[in-house]
Amino acid sequence: MIAGNTPVKQRVRDGRVQALPHPWSAWLTLSSDPDNTRHADWKELDRLIWQELGLPFSDSVFIRSYNIQLPDQVDLHGHPEVLGSHPHDTIHTWGDFMFAGTRGFDRSDAEAHLRTLEQMNFRPRVWVDHSMFIGNLLHNHKFGGIPEFKDASGYTYANQYYTLDLIRKAGVRYFWDGTITSVLGQDRELSLRQYHLERTGSGRRGTLDWMKHKVGDTFGLGKAFRDQFQGNQAYRVHRFLDGSLGYVFPRYGRWELADIQGLGVLLAPAMMDRLVAQGGICMAYTHLGKRKAGHENDAEHVPASTRKSLEHVASLHRDGKLMLSSLGRLLDYLVLRDHLTIQGAAFTFTADGLAFDTVGPHELAGHSFTIKGAVPQGITVHGTKGAVPHSILRHGDHAFTLQFPEA
Ligand SMILES: [Zn+2]
Repeated sequence: MIAGNTPVKQRVRDGRVQALPHPWSAWLTLSSDPDNTRHADWKELDRLIWQELGLPFSDSVFIRSYNIQLPDQVDLHGHPEVLGSHPHDTIHTWGDFMFAGTRGFDRSDAEAHLRTLEQMNFRPRVWVDHSMFIGNLLHNHKFGGIPEFKDASGYTYANQYYTLDLIRKAGVRYFWDGTITSVLGQDRELSLRQYHLERTGSGRRGTLDWMKHKVGDTFGLGKAFRDQFQGNQAYRVHRFLDGSLGYVFPRYGRWELADIQGLGVLLAPAMMDRLVAQGGICMAYTHLGKRKAGHENDAEHVPASTRKSLEHVASLHRDGKLMLSSLGRLLDYLVLRDHLTIQGAAFTFTADGLAFDTVGPHELAGHSFTIKGAVPQGITVHGTKGAVPHSILRHGDHAFTLQFPEA
């Protein structure tokens, strides 16, 4: 286990529940930001990723872009039809309020955009901070999570950038933690040493960081250094500055690879084969609609190498090795999995209270969970409101899978 700086105690998976459901050895999802996406490029991406390759990833949107430096950036205001074309589950803050000239942002914008989401019947499950947006929660700024400020004379002012309550009202249950991890495969137990080796990709630097971390831990030194490293969990409980709790997750990648050219490198066949071989889950950080500088005039938006990487991902999925899904679905799976309680033959999915207030057929629809051992005599499967319809797939005597029908 990583020396912990998890701020809040968190439920961990029952050891009998396998990390991933049968038959998958790893799980990949994309977490793409919509920055810089022109409509022609959006159409090419939609055609390739969702229509041609049929990859079940989700996308993110700007509700409205006010960015005067990127006047043709796709948003829901100009292109409401994008929502119906392929799955979306992420909002990139309340819109693009960066480089918006004299136009500012305050809580009333969030209220207006919340109404837009409700009118469109769109309930995003994930929030991702954008650039230096003043209403960010965890990335560059934390103003979005602070309800009020107090000045030096003791006066209290309501913070007009505070919208965390409205973000939840929109449906959001998962928040990007503002970090990028270079460790391929989260949700794997790594020793502190292994973690630093994988994070740095270098034996020498990894060993040095590991020693620094360990020595600091022992003597209570270098807290800032150690706090950068949250361990290799896929998600954590975070206490926001308004006191509320929420789930946060890191994304996998490298800052300089977060564009359509870089995606080909990040998801290169050798890397995805490695992910499958070592296991774990991967929430890959990218900007699908962004080209690396120098590629502005390329005829095609998606370069051949990125197409090849995506085709390989599709083939690993077809072969039953690499699970693919939307980002929200993957996070839901992890929370449901970690809140499955086993007592004898009684299997109970409990509500965690942050992502789920109740767990029943609707919440479990389409999910499956693999459990070690033989199927217990008289097995029962309950949610928070009683028995849940399911089927059981046996893998000999050593494991079985609980499957829940699609809604
Ligand atoms: Zn952004």
